[in-house]
Amino acid sequence: MIYYDKLIFELSAPGRKGYTLPANRYPVHAAVPGTLRRAEAPALPEVSEPDVVRHYTNLSQMNFGVDTGFYPLGSCTMKYNPKINEEIAAMPSFTGLHPLQPSETVQGALEVYWETEQALRALTGLEAFTFNPCAGAHGELTGLMIIKRYHELRGDTARTKIIVPDSAHGTNPASAAVAGFEVVEVKSLENGRIDVEALKELLGPDVAGIMMTNPNTLGLFETEIKTIAALVHEAGGLLYYDGANMNPLMGVVRPGDMGFDVMHLNLHKTFSTPHGGGGPGSGPVGVAPHLVRCLPLPRVIREADGHFSLLGAEENSAGKVSGFLGNFGVILRALAYIKMLGRQNVRRVGELSTLGANYIKECLKDVYKLPIEGVCKHEFVFDGLVNDGAREGVPGATTLDVAKRLLDYGFHAPTIYFPLLFHQALMIEPTETESKETLDRFIAVMRQIAAEAAEDPDILHNAPHDTPVRRPDETQAARNPILKAL
Ligand SMILES: *Cc1c(COP(=O)(O)O)cnc(C)c1O
Repeated sequence: MIYYDKLIFELSAPGRKGYTLPANRYPVHAAVPGTLRRAEAPALPEVSEPDVVRHYTNLSQMNFGVDTGFYPLGSCTMKYNPKINEEIAAMPSFTGLHPLQPSETVQGALEVYWETEQALRALTGLEAFTFNPCAGAHGELTGLMIIKRYHELRGDTARTKIIVPDSAHGTNPASAAVAGFEVVEVKSLENGRIDVEALKELLGPDVAGIMMTNPNTLGLFETEIKTIAALVHEAGGLLYYDGANMNPLMGVVRPGDMGFDVMHLNLHKTFSTPHGGGGPGSGPVGVAPHLVRCLPLPRVIREADGHFSLLGAEENSAGKVSGFLGNFGVILRALAYIKMLGRQNVRRVGELSTLGANYIKECLKDVYKLPIEGVCKHEFVFDGLVNDGAREGVPGATTLDVAKRLLDYGFHAPTIYFPLLFHQALMIEPTETESKETLDRFIAVMRQIAAEAAEDPDILHNAPHDTPVRRPDETQAARNPILKAL
């Protein structure tokens, strides 16, 4: 890999040019008024066209993406994103639409929403979906607003608490707090599942609902889900399903059948929209029949004559979190992906992502600590190295050191130090699109790193050795990023 050691401003030479503008076709009176013009020319780099091309191409190669290498970032479902999705989402017949166009002129786009909704209904067992939210956390907030509205409409205003397991994704308690609820934590058992006895203690007339993901953030299926659903419903609460972990269940098990009332999906995880750079996302929210009237509006409806229209008024709606119908381009990608897989292959997604995760886990558990034995779903969590190489005067290698060393071998790091249940958490999610050869290479590298740690942990302490940036101060890098110089 070649890394440029100069900024584009440092490559600049006075008078050098990489462009020729066409002659001005407009009369002089179209010129920018003097009062609005700069006193001095802007300080732009003066470089040749190849310099510009190399600059941006080199910059693009300093990034790591799912198109450049294996990306086992747990909880994030970094699967391959088929390129045909991009072509479809970029079709001018879609990109040229305006959300305020009359419905008669956008029947095809409305049909895309409707068809995607039908597919999501079939996959989840829920009754109806809104596409309004633009992210998973956005969907959580919407779902909680729906839960609140549901209780309000029943005249039950005493339900101020939302129960969240201690293994939950951080967005769950955050969304509950933003929606105005008090967050109550329920503990996990040694086996990583919710402590049903502890849950019973928390349930009561002040509980609006519980937020869960299944499989949970440890990649473990909550086998007591039927009991939990019955208990929560008996106490008058609703069950919210965080569907960001839907990948291993696709086509196999449905949240609606488990007893969940509300859920969101991450189209930008499970349904193959590129993510990770903060780009457009989509967190559609599905509800059981008794909550349909609380969904945000507008919603796409199919009339008896086959025409599509927008349902715009419903006094019971919980309100919305974004404009119009969310990020249409992401929904197009999801529909293309679902159609391409078909009913048969959707199920293979769940099966293969589960198989890949279990294969890696079993091949590495003699050198990385596996806190909870047994079959996992699409991801699992190690708790650091079995032998971290600690000795007199030399501290052992940590999970952070393993993650940094992986970069030297060309792999993205897994998610680290999350979930918070273990001190050295390494959360690994391979996704169904990785070949056995890739998984074997990853396993070999992880074993190599474990061997290095046992022999000389300083190799890991000083990693990465081969990247342009090595160990930034992570807090400073997040809070006070300096992006203009290496
Ligand atoms: C990614 C994720 C979320 C949040 O989704 P965003 O789109 O990032 O807001 C919520 N829960 C789980 C389990 C996740 O993995």
